[in-house]
Amino acid sequence: QAQRDGGNTLRFFESEMDARASRRMDVLSRLRGAIGRGELFLHYQPKVCTADGQVIGVEALVRWHNGDIGMIPPSDFIPLAEESGLIDEIGEWVLRRACEQGMRWQAEGLSELSIAVNLSTRQFRQERLLALVRSALEDSGLPPQRLELEITEGMLMQDPEKAAVVLRRLHELGVRISIDDFGTGYSSLSYLQRFPVHTLKVDQSFVREISNSPGAAAIVTAVISLAHSLDLCVVAEGVETEAQRRFLGDLACDYCQGYYFSRPVAAGEISALNGAEPATLPRA
Ligand code: C2E
Ligand code: MG
Ligand code: MG
Ligand code: MG
Repeated sequence: QAQRDGGNTLRFFESEMDARASRRMDVLSRLRGAIGRGELFLHYQPKVCTADGQVIGVEALVRWHNGDIGMIPPSDFIPLAEESGLIDEIGEWVLRRACEQGMRWQAEGLSELSIAVNLSTRQFRQERLLALVRSALEDSGLPPQRLELEITEGMLMQDPEKAAVVLRRLHELGVRISIDDFGTGYSSLSYLQRFPVHTLKVDQSFVREISNSPGAAAIVTAVISLAHSLDLCVVAEGVETEAQRRFLGDLACDYCQGYYFSRPVAAGEISALNGAEPATLPRA
């Protein structure tokens, strides 16, 4: 009896696995043609000054809508793209489109806006990253100081020596480097003074718990103070409430990003900010 149940459980487990694997294959094969079919697009989430709510930059976030399966969140397809190598093509597409959009906003008068682009692990490791960034800047005309590349702690720690070289070259190009999801990775803090990093982005898991967890509040406080004593900028991610904004304002956190100010939106909604008061930001 026990053995038969065990067998059934195993068969059930295997069919679950099959279902999941075939769903992945299905998503992956659709993803292969997604760029060609024009299914990818970018949304942009404003990054605002904590003190006055002024929009100083945006983060480009890739979106994928497939006619058959609908919207697929990046948390579902970026890992697949990364494993399959498709991220090379997607990452290049994102970088080029974001730089071009930055120039379009410049033409509309939003000439100070910084444009942040997320890099994946695989992109960061590639030899051609530098050439790609240089080419995206040259082809679009975007001033390098307006491009910000977001990387995670894990990317730096895999091969710190090599990462240092890559970061130095990017820095020489004039682009800025942000550490995304800061506080969630396993990393040594010593790299912060060795690498040309410009900004720390406090991970949203800590920001979310600011009012409920003294531990999370302590971590946010410590990261802001660490950033400032190293002369780095600091951005709080995932700010959703007035209480969080006030806490961050009291700590003089430079910038905030989150649904409290705006969800990621289409490029046109960012254009509409031109000349607008901070208060007219589209709220979540
Ligand atoms: P991330 O770079 O840390 O981006 C922030 C994520 O938090 C975004 O999710 C954003 O929509 C979400 N978010 C912003 N404010 C709030 C808030 O107040 N509350 C909550 N609950 N969430 C908020 P999204 O767009 O789903 O992206 C998820 C992750 O996928 C990104 O995390 C990034 O790691 C990756 N990703 C997105 N676009 C790209 C891309 O173009 N290239 C690469 N390599 N990765 C990307
Ligand atoms: Mg990011
Ligand atoms: Mg993040
Ligand atoms: Mg992330």
